[in-house]
Amino acid sequence: MKALRLRQFGRLLLEDMPPPEPAPDEVLVKVLAAGICGTDLKLLHGHHGAYTEGGAELPITPGHEWGGVVVAVGEAVTRFAPGDLVTGETGLGCLRCEYCLTGRHNLCPSVVETGIFGRDGAMRELHLHPEVFTHSAAGLTAEQAALVEPASVAVHACRRGRVSLGDNVAVLGCGPIGLLAVQAARAFGARRVLATSRSRPKLDLASELGAGSVVKVTDEDLSAAAQDFTSGEGFDTVIECSGSPQALEQALEIARPGGTLALVGGYEGPLQHRLIDIVGKELDLAGCRGSPHVWPETIDLLRHGQIKVEPVISHRFALRDYEKAFELAERGGPDVLKILLLPQEV
Ligand SMILES: [Zn+2]
Ligand SMILES: [Zn+2]
Repeated sequence: MKALRLRQFGRLLLEDMPPPEPAPDEVLVKVLAAGICGTDLKLLHGHHGAYTEGGAELPITPGHEWGGVVVAVGEAVTRFAPGDLVTGETGLGCLRCEYCLTGRHNLCPSVVETGIFGRDGAMRELHLHPEVFTHSAAGLTAEQAALVEPASVAVHACRRGRVSLGDNVAVLGCGPIGLLAVQAARAFGARRVLATSRSRPKLDLASELGAGSVVKVTDEDLSAAAQDFTSGEGFDTVIECSGSPQALEQALEIARPGGTLALVGGYEGPLQHRLIDIVGKELDLAGCRGSPHVWPETIDLLRHGQIKVEPVISHRFALRDYEKAFELAERGGPDVLKILLLPQEV
C-alpha cells in the first residue's frame, strides 16, 4: 500500500509499504478521506512540542482526521465488522491511569497521538486503529467522517468553555475549527455568536453557519462591535481559535466579568498580557487539548445537521498529489479551509 512517511523534518515522501495486519484489539480501515490540519504543518517542520521537547521520534505517517471503511478486524474486536464506516480518536490514552479513568485521556502521561507522535496516522491506503478509540460513522459520508475530529475539537472547546443556553459566545478565527465552533456553540444553546477573521469569504461562511455578527479584524474595531452586539454585556465565553497572541489580548477585553476563555490555538509565542484583567474580571482560562469523550455526541451533531462540515471542506487531492495539497495548506488564503487527501485515488 501507499503511505506518506515523514522520515526527516521538512520532507514527506509517498512510499510503498507492506499492508498492516490488525492486532487482536485493532480494526483495519481502508481510508477514504484524511484531512490536513495546522498540526500536520507543525509536525512536518519539526515544530511540534512532542518532538522539540517530548523526545518523540520519526518516522511517522501523519493523518489524525480520517474516515474510512473497516476491511478486517482483530480477533477480539466485537463492535465493528468489515463494511462499517468509521472514524477514530487522535489521543490514545493507557486507559489505566487516573486521567484516563476520569475521562481525560488527552492528559494521560503515556498518551500517543495518532499521526502526530507515537503512532502512525491515516495518510495511507490502509490504517490501523484500536477498537476502543474507533467510532461508528454510520449515516455520514466518508468525508463527513474525516471532519468528525476537528468538529469534536470544537465541541470539546464548548464544553471546556462551559457554553450553555442563552450565552453570548465569541469565536476568534474562522479556520475550520472556528467555523465548526460557531456551529457547536449554537448547538450548545448560545443565543448570540460573533465570529472574527481577516478573510471576508470566511466571515460570509460564518454568517451562513450561524454567526449573528461577524468582524473583519483587519478593518473593524472588535471591542466596539462586541459591545454593540451583546448590548454591553460582553461574552460569557470566548473561544480563541486563531492562535494569535493579539487575539488573546482581545479575548480578555471582550469577555464579560466571570466569563471563560477557551484556548484552542496552537500558540507558539510567550504570553504578554495584562494579567490583572483575569483577576479583576475573575475570568477562567480553559486550555483545550484534543477532544476526549465527545465523539459519539459530535457524530450525532453531524448526523442531525447541527454541525455542517461540507462547507468547511475547500479542496480535495488524490494522495499522490500530496505535495500540492501541503503547499496549498502552507500558503493558506481567504479560500483555503479544510484540504482532504483521498488515499484511494493514488
Ligand atoms: Zn487537526
Ligand atoms: Zn492513561
